[in-house]
Amino acid sequence: MRTVMVVFTRDLRVRDNPALATACRVADRVVPLFVADPAIEAPPGRARFLLDALTDLRASLRDLGGDLLVRRGDPAEVIARTAREAGASQVAMAEDVSAYARRRQRRVGEVAELRLFPGVTVLPAGAVRPAGGDHYKVFTPYWRSWSASPWRKPEEVPARVVLPEGWRGDDPRAVLGEAPPAPVTGGESAGLARLEDWAPRAGDYAGLHDALAEDGTSRLSPYLRFGCVSPLELATDPRVPEAFVRQLCWRDFYHQLLAAFPRLGTENFRPGAREDWADDPEGLAAWKAGETGVALVDAGMRQLLAEGWMHNRARMVTASHLTKTLGVDWREGAAWFARHLLDADVANNCGNWQWTAGTGTDARPHRRFNPERQRERFDPERVYVDRWRA
Ligand SMILES: Cc1cc2nc3c(=O)[nH]c(=O)nc-3n(C[C@H](O)[C@H](O)[C@H](O)COP(=O)(O)OP(=O)(O)OC[C@H]3O[C@@H](n4cnc5c(N)ncnc54)[C@H](O)[C@@H]3O)c2cc1C
Repeated sequence: MRTVMVVFTRDLRVRDNPALATACRVADRVVPLFVADPAIEAPPGRARFLLDALTDLRASLRDLGGDLLVRRGDPAEVIARTAREAGASQVAMAEDVSAYARRRQRRVGEVAELRLFPGVTVLPAGAVRPAGGDHYKVFTPYWRSWSASPWRKPEEVPARVVLPEGWRGDDPRAVLGEAPPAPVTGGESAGLARLEDWAPRAGDYAGLHDALAEDGTSRLSPYLRFGCVSPLELATDPRVPEAFVRQLCWRDFYHQLLAAFPRLGTENFRPGAREDWADDPEGLAAWKAGETGVALVDAGMRQLLAEGWMHNRARMVTASHLTKTLGVDWREGAAWFARHLLDADVANNCGNWQWTAGTGTDARPHRRFNPERQRERFDPERVYVDRWRA
């Protein structure tokens, strides 16, 4: 009798989940586990989104005949102990690229037979490489190789998840504790519902995605952040246009960048980029509160506090204002976004902050977004700035 433990991390779904699907194919018994690591306590909005996602995942696994174990503690210790108790010969996990995730994978690999699977991105980091290098530093050639390379086929939902005799799961709320409500409901079911709601308008994406006042983008980013929807299923959905797939490619691009440069969240990516940041606590506080007096910057920052999400165009303008106009260190801005965004992850947050600050991969590092000109172009009727007025 073969038992495999599936450890969920940023792949909180049953659809197109290669770790889960393979375990159910090769093993007689499967032990699905989530480990809440006290070392990475999520801020309130993300904590609730995570709770919703785990509750939904547990319900889906139960529908398939299985369940979800939820434990708190050091992941390597919990995984080793639970695998021993369940008699699991192998641990299956989705491969992730942050320095933290890689350390976790290394430690789990020391205490159990670990097998890593794709699923966090469309293409795994390192799947496409430039001639003579191990990662792409520029987006357009990455996009070309990424689009031209073969992709795996999305996995089917397993027919059944069979737990070892006598094992049952845990209520995530009992283990993690309650969290204050988040602006949107987390989980695979909610993510798929959001996709179905947006899909009929997906054809307008190229024309609408920069319009600040429109609901023209998918708003799937928190669901992608927690893996509640599969990036591969999205990228291969016949209803989404190429302009949207290109944005998913940006997501993969920053993941492969983080894999190659694990200090993306703490150090300038571009050698020689500026280090002489301004010490401006008052400017920083006004920026955080949405009280700079610059209409579009303030609107974006207030949307962030209210919704745990901000329109991409506003993210670029607010980040440019902080780093290029006030001259404040991008790490201050990235930390504030990380605390308030439901979708915050190191690769996308810090990759984009560095791009905007001119310390990252933008080939025009000195460009500055003029907030009033951006407002005239992307919010000509002032609908967005009025919506978020104090
Ligand atoms: C300063 C700054 C910080 C950012 N921080 C984050 C972050 O922490 N997490 C995050 O997911 N995105 C981040 N972004 C990228 C982008 O703003 C969001 O992904 C997007 O606004 C999410 O909304 P959506 O799901 O409606 O996007 P859509 O326009 O519907 O795009 C679909 C998906 O493509 C991906 N995507 C879109 N744009 C980008 C991009 N520029 N870079 C990487 N992936 C992208 C996202 O996963 C998104 O959900 C940041 C951008 C900036 C300028």
